[in-house]
Amino acid sequence: MSHEYEQELTILNPATEEVVATVPAATAADVDAAVARAATAQARWAGLAPADRARLLRRFADAVDQHVEELARLEVREAGHLLGNARWEAGNVRDLLAYAAGGVERLNGRQIPVPGGLDVTILEPLGVVGVIAPWNFPMPIAAWGTAPALAAGNAVILKPAETTPLTALRLAELALEAGLPEGLFQVLPGHGPVTGSAVVEHPGVAKIVFTGSTRTGRAVMEQCARQVKQVTLELGGKSPNIVFADADLATALDPFSFLDNSGQDCCARTRILVQESVYDEARELLADALKAVVVGDPADEKTQMGPLISRQQLDRVRALAPDDIPGLRGSAPDGPGFWFAPTVLTGAAHDSEAAREEIFGPVAVLLPFTDEADAIRLANDTPYGLSGSIWTRDVGRALRMSSAVRAGNLSVNSHSSVRYWTPFGGYKQSGLGRELGPDALTAFTETKNVFISTEGPAQ
Ligand code: NAD
Repeated sequence: MSHEYEQELTILNPATEEVVATVPAATAADVDAAVARAATAQARWAGLAPADRARLLRRFADAVDQHVEELARLEVREAGHLLGNARWEAGNVRDLLAYAAGGVERLNGRQIPVPGGLDVTILEPLGVVGVIAPWNFPMPIAAWGTAPALAAGNAVILKPAETTPLTALRLAELALEAGLPEGLFQVLPGHGPVTGSAVVEHPGVAKIVFTGSTRTGRAVMEQCARQVKQVTLELGGKSPNIVFADADLATALDPFSFLDNSGQDCCARTRILVQESVYDEARELLADALKAVVVGDPADEKTQMGPLISRQQLDRVRALAPDDIPGLRGSAPDGPGFWFAPTVLTGAAHDSEAAREEIFGPVAVLLPFTDEADAIRLANDTPYGLSGSIWTRDVGRALRMSSAVRAGNLSVNSHSSVRYWTPFGGYKQSGLGRELGPDALTAFTETKNVFISTEGPAQ
C-alpha cells in the first residue's frame, strides 16, 4: 500500500505555507529494523541499576532544558504555535522527563500476606512501546508516553504526526547526546496508515500509546485487539464550559478556554453552556472578547492566536463552522497561511454537528441552559468525555456537577486541566486508560506475582 504515499514528508510553515524541511517517511521495513534495535537496547536498559537509568533520564531532561529556545522556535515554524506557548511546551518535556526519572527508584511492587510463604508482586517493563502522536501538541504529547515508558525500563518508538516530525527528531538527538543508549528512543516519521500501522501491527511492540482522533483510535484499537496488545487511547473531545449565573462571568468566559493553540486542543471548552438569565450578558462579553483577539504571526510576542496546522484542517473547520450559521466572529489575516477567525456559534442547535462534533479549530458553540439538571443533560450530550469547566460560587453545586459530568478532567472555577503530575484521560469515546500523574510508570509495566514457600523440608 505504501506506493500510494509520498516517500518524503514536506513540512510547511502554517503561517506562511513555506517549506520548512523535507523528511524521509519510514517504511514498514524501517519499522522492522527499528524494533530489532529497540529490543536489544531495551534488554540492556532494563538491566541497568535504577539509579543509573534515573540519572540518564535527568541528563536527557537537562539537555532539553538547554535547548528550550531552539525546540520552541522549531515548533513555531513547523506547527505555527505562539513562541511563548512553544517555550512552555519544550519546558513541559523537560519537566516530564525529570518527573519520570524520579519514579525509577520508586517503581515498587507489593508484599501481600498469604499463608505458608511470601507473596510479592514485581513490576516488569513491557519491552518495546510504540507512541503515536498527533500534531496539535507535538512535543508534550510525545513525551507523555515516552518519558514514563523509558523510566519503567522500556524502549520507545515514536511515530510523530505527518506535519510535525521535526521537534521529535531533535528530541531523539538530544537523548543520544545525553547518553541514552542507541536504539532506546527512536523517532520514525511517516504516514499513519504506513509507518503508524506498521508500528501497531509489529509483534515485537508490546504496547501502543495513541493520541489522535477518535476515528483513528478506534482503528488502532481494532488492530491491537488482533494481538491482544495493550493500548492507551487519548482521543477527541467536545468539552463543556458550564457557567452558572452566580459565576464571575468575565473570567468564566475567557475566550482562550477554546482559542488556545487556535482551538487545536483536545481539552478546548467548545460547548459554552450559560444559564439563561445571564445568556445575553455572556453573548455581549464574548462578542467584545473575540473582537479583541490578536490573530497573526506566531513568532510575534504580541500575537494571541496563530494559524491552523494545515490546509486540510482549515477546510475541515470551514466545513463544520460555515458562515451561514449565525455567530460572533473576530478577525484573521488574509493571504498565505491557514487562518480562521475566532468564532462563537450562537445559531447551532445543541444536537447539531457543530455542537456535538469536535471541530478542532477556534470555534465554540454558545447554548443556554435552565437549571442544574438541564446543564448536566447538555454537558453529557456528546460521545466525548475528556474535560470540562464548572463555574459557580456555590460549593455544593460545584461538587454535584463534578460528580455528574462524565469526563476525566474537570476544573471548578478554572479552565486548567493538564498537569504532568496529575492523571489525564477520557471517559466514553475520548479515550481508554490514563496518562501522567503518580501512576504513569505503572501503565508501562506487567505485574508479576511470585509466591515463595516458607515450608521447610518434610521432617
Ligand atoms: P489523527 O488521528 O489523524 O492522527 C494521529 C496520529 O495517528 C498521527 O501520527 C497519524 O499519522 C497516526 N495515524 C493515522 N492513521 C493511522 C493508522 N491507521 N495506524 C496508526 N497510526 C495512524 O489525529 P490528528 O489529526 O493528528 O490529531 C488531532 C486529534 O487528536 C484530535 O481529535 C484531538 O482531540 C486528538 N487529541 C487528543 C488528545 C488527548 O489527550 N485526548 C490530545 C491531543 C489531541
